[in-house]
Amino acid sequence: MKEAQIIVIGGGASGMLAALTASQAGADVLLLEQNQKLGRKLYITGKGRCNLTNDCSAAEVLANVPHNSRFLMSCMAGFPPEEVKKAFQKLGVPLKTERGNRVFPQSDRAADVIDAMLSALRRSRVVLMQDRAKHIRTANGAVCGVQTAHGELSCKAIILATGGVSYPLTGSTGDGYRMAAELGHTVIPPKPSLVPLEAEDDFCRRMQGLSLRNVSIKVKNRKKKILFQEQGELLFTHFGLSGPLILSASVHMREYESDHYTIMIDLKPALDEQMLDARLLREFSANPNRSIHHVLSTLLPRLMVPIMEERACISGTVQANAITKLQRRRLLELLKCFPIEVAGPRPVEEAIVTAGGVKVSEVVPATMQSKRVEGLFFAGELLDVDAYTGGFNLQIAWSTGHAAGEAASRYVGKASGVPC
Ligand SMILES: Cc1cc2nc3c(=O)[nH]c(=O)nc-3n(C[C@H](O)[C@H](O)[C@H](O)COP(=O)(O)OP(=O)(O)OC[C@H]3O[C@@H](n4cnc5c(N)ncnc54)[C@H](O)[C@@H]3O)c2cc1C
Repeated sequence: MKEAQIIVIGGGASGMLAALTASQAGADVLLLEQNQKLGRKLYITGKGRCNLTNDCSAAEVLANVPHNSRFLMSCMAGFPPEEVKKAFQKLGVPLKTERGNRVFPQSDRAADVIDAMLSALRRSRVVLMQDRAKHIRTANGAVCGVQTAHGELSCKAIILATGGVSYPLTGSTGDGYRMAAELGHTVIPPKPSLVPLEAEDDFCRRMQGLSLRNVSIKVKNRKKKILFQEQGELLFTHFGLSGPLILSASVHMREYESDHYTIMIDLKPALDEQMLDARLLREFSANPNRSIHHVLSTLLPRLMVPIMEERACISGTVQANAITKLQRRRLLELLKCFPIEVAGPRPVEEAIVTAGGVKVSEVVPATMQSKRVEGLFFAGELLDVDAYTGGFNLQIAWSTGHAAGEAASRYVGKASGVPC
């Protein structure tokens, strides 16, 4: 039977960092990954450029974690973005910072981040094994080994870093939830976060492919409370809405069973109502005999014009000089507040991150150690924490991985280990 002091299950961002940290602290570590290659999800982060952290303070990271941010306080203070940047630069990955403090490798290649980590793991003599963990074995309340698809491994400590359930083709298929639950941990049901949204009506499908830049949106719930407001870019798709603005908005819509959400698009955020009304009047009086279809085409993308006419109940053939005050008012309202009723999120498989996961009150925040099972540690998206876009989700993977790696190596230094 193969043996290691620590077995890290999952070779994604958090697992690789945990394995590296533990081995650099002196432990003998085996990293178990079911895919042939490590870090498959990392390859596709930031559209292949890997937005690996955000150049901000630990406190600012926590402000970008909408749920359970307090749980991350300690590990974030221990390995904040500043330390992450230093660590990657030390591994030979020069970095650059872009708009919104987003940090990327200078080369714009996620592959450089993975290659650098892989070389460091090899230099630190971490044993890399391709196999799928099926069960964690325990004896006398402490972990003692892993049953894999191809055999048995024994160890004193395990770091479970199997990710969530989004983009399952990268290997995150939810095995970790099952293994944690088998050991008595509560798993908060996984839900999609940073996810495209399905629309109730047909308007979006008819505008599919249209991308709107510099629009602002408001998200309102059933009680008309504004849950989110921001300016940016969105995309109409065959099912509804996508694009950076929508992914960010989706984080604030989690109660689909009990609530209802409407997205209001302000198509002209630079103009207030008065200015926009003056603009409409100017366009109408400059083109009195042209159709409203023509006039709207000067204000809106082509695909949107017929939809706007339909929603304002104005025939496209009506001449601009025949538009009534009431019709102009309706147009104005739709331009400032174009409503889309949200039917729900796309499936979790299409989400950028998974919300939910191992309940954090059952894990020690400073060490990521299980409060249920001796020698068991957690890291990354598997935990019930998730953040907004901007490099914060990878920052969580690095910080939790670092805390787990350090604590697990301390643990195996003291623990005598139990035979399975
Ligand atoms: C398209 C996309 C773009 C993203 N872009 C960014 C970005 O730019 N910035 C950012 O901060 N975040 C981004 N994210 C989120 C970020 O990638 C994740 O939060 C992060 O990768 C989670 O790391 P992890 O180590 O916890 O899990 P994962 O990266 O999912 O790694 C888990 C690993 O465990 C392995 N595994 C699972 N089960 C087993 C098993 N039974 N046995 C052995 N191995 C197993 C899997 O194969 C996988 O390799 C993006 C996500 C997606 C999907």
